[in-house]
Amino acid sequence: MELNTQSEIQPENEFSIAIRRACASILIPELGKNLEELNCLPPAVVEGKNININLVLPTFALPSEPHIALQVRNAAIAVVPSKMNVTLNVFADVKPATEQSIYTPKIADVRNVILVASGKGGVGKSTVATNLAVALARTGCQVGLLDADVYGPSIPTMFGIDSSQKIEGIKDEKGQSIMLPIEKHGVKLMSIGFLVDTESAMVWRGPMIASASMQMFQQVAWGNLDYLVVDMPPGTGDIQLTIAQKVSVAGAVVVSTPQDVALADVVRAKSMFDRVKIPILGVVENMSYFICDGCDKRHEIFTHGGAKKSAERMNLKFLGEIPLEVNLREGSDRGIPAAFKPKSTAATYFNAIAQQVAIDIARAAIEKAEESDLPQITITGAEPGVPKKRGLPVLQ
Ligand code: ADP
Repeated sequence: MELNTQSEIQPENEFSIAIRRACASILIPELGKNLEELNCLPPAVVEGKNININLVLPTFALPSEPHIALQVRNAAIAVVPSKMNVTLNVFADVKPATEQSIYTPKIADVRNVILVASGKGGVGKSTVATNLAVALARTGCQVGLLDADVYGPSIPTMFGIDSSQKIEGIKDEKGQSIMLPIEKHGVKLMSIGFLVDTESAMVWRGPMIASASMQMFQQVAWGNLDYLVVDMPPGTGDIQLTIAQKVSVAGAVVVSTPQDVALADVVRAKSMFDRVKIPILGVVENMSYFICDGCDKRHEIFTHGGAKKSAERMNLKFLGEIPLEVNLREGSDRGIPAAFKPKSTAATYFNAIAQQVAIDIARAAIEKAEESDLPQITITGAEPGVPKKRGLPVLQ
């Protein structure tokens, strides 16, 4: 459903004005701003006895959303005659935190690129990238996942896609071939594993890897995406630097295990992202501990807290710790990411990480809009930036 734009040509109805006034000071606590400041309430559409209120949030990943929606509904009901039917639709209009990242007209409108990086392989970078993408998609946002990890492209396995699957191509409006991503678990996917024989790719030189990664950014019909999560090649060297320099990135998530070496990894990642002025959205400590199902005791196999301490020392946000969990590994091997099963304990860790990431990006986008003094919400036909409604209205 698209937002009705009739308000652009008709004067705003008295009920709509009353509703907007009544809701103006309702706060989005995660962002410290109210609905009026964030321009979240376009004119309500009044048709006879029916009033359609459209609440346009900066992201669907706000834990306070049900509470905000309830407040809007109650405030609206209090100011309109009781014979009117009030329907509340919740939309999200995710804005870019940085200049648009990949923008090929009519092909791709990727608003926020999120890099998931680690100092070395095997720490769970792909696991975090996969589950972050799925957790964001489950909120109702449009999400893509680009697997640029040429040394071990595990995204096809983690999504249960045979890496020999054929990628289809289409022509863009300039007649150039572009690749169609594969969609699974609500996420649009492209992996270097779909495109090349990974055994031969293992011996590629850095510039070849960087160039193949760039092709996946630019020659894939990503369409409208709120977030494009990128599973980076492990390490913090030239390849990673080249990718980070060539794409406009909203922020990076650094994944680490808890050992002392984690400190060195996080320091290296920070210095790399600082060089290219990419904000670090936070640090995740993976394989943080293990709870034995036999004795229920917590075992800290690789010690514990190293990444958290490193993050604190460097003034970086700590996004959370993920335990070693057999279910998590099994889910990854079977192509069903933990975040896809909302009741799994692992899903709760990834949901919390996804929410923090989305909120920080929304905050950065708001700051950017305030600096440039541009209106924050555009409601204009089928252009990029059209708010998207979740499958069903939250309240009726
Ligand atoms: P990387 O991308 O850093 O190389 P992966 O995400 O591919 O690491 O993880 C390496 C292996 O460890 C995979 O088999 C994955 O399923 C497993 N794994 C990662 N994180 C966890 C965890 N928290 N609990 C259990 N297994 C995990």
